Amino acid sequence: MKAGLVYDPIYLKHDTGQHVENAKRLEAIISYLEQTQLKQQLTLIKPGAASIEEISLVHHGRYISHIQDVAQRGGGWLDVDTVMSPDSYQAAIYAAGGAIRASEAVMGGEVGSAFALVRPPGHHATSQQAMGFCLFNNIAIATKYALTKYKLERVVIIDFDVHHGNGTQATFYDNPQVLYISTHESPFYPGTGSIEETGSGAGKGTTLNIPLPAGCGDEEYLQAFQQVIVPATLRFNPQLILVSAGYDLHWADELALMQVSTNGFAQMVRIIKGLADELCGGRLLFSLEGGYNLQALAYSVKATFDVLLGKANIEDPLGQSPPRFPPPTITPLIEAIKEIHKLA
Ligand SMILES: [Zn+2]
Repeated sequence: MKAGLVYDPIYLKHDTGQHVENAKRLEAIISYLEQTQLKQQLTLIKPGAASIEEISLVHHGRYISHIQDVAQRGGGWLDVDTVMSPDSYQAAIYAAGGAIRASEAVMGGEVGSAFALVRPPGHHATSQQAMGFCLFNNIAIATKYALTKYKLERVVIIDFDVHHGNGTQATFYDNPQVLYISTHESPFYPGTGSIEETGSGAGKGTTLNIPLPAGCGDEEYLQAFQQVIVPATLRFNPQLILVSAGYDLHWADELALMQVSTNGFAQMVRIIKGLADELCGGRLLFSLEGGYNLQALAYSVKATFDVLLGKANIEDPLGQSPPRFPPPTITPLIEAIKEIHKLA
């Protein structure tokens, strides 16, 4: 089955200067996909700009105008982590548009799966606040778009970025149609994502947090996937799976303290793809969130595409983490989560 790559050079024009979230990230990915001749095996998908109406599926009108105004005034800092340049608004509406376009390509059957390689990232952005390098919440907008346009009843968002996707969680906290599952380092930015946060109202039980201690590697992540994410997703029985794909849990990434390898990402993606194949006719889309070590990011995004294309061999040029931390025991945590969410 075909795998789609959503990309536009406009994403490079969100100029953050010396910031860790900069255009070199996407340049490194695209150049590695070209160098390894993987790009030509993908279906290239051009995004358009998301309309105000589409962005409004998640964000308040006043907030959208504010972001537009800041760009028009030449950019500036929105909070201590999040900066804009004159072209950032345009890049951000194309980033949301890229995730929307990925959902259309997957739902319309143009491709089996798609990966929107976009920036700025999105999962920290709330309805009226930019934070954590994020302006508009691309995955949340694409989710709402897909729910509305295709009249879906159940979708699952899996967010494996090392940070908790507080904006995505908040967007769907009371929504019974969206099961939001996040693995993230804890305690860590942004501070949300405890196991007790499980949703509210009609959405009670449809937020599932897996806050992991620093030092987790492939083995711990696979344990979380196999013992929590797989049974929870099977039970929810989604019609579409969306992934907030952050690669800042790689051991070489300097923003966090996890020890996942490129091969570990491949195994996680293989599990997610298995779920999509079994439950959703393969319909699966990824949207890029974090990942700040350029090599680890490029290798791991390529490994993600390799799995989506059904390849058995995954290259992991960086290999496993050198021993930095004793591996944490997460079994009691996993048992507590299974208890809270009544997973057998
Ligand atoms: Zn992150």
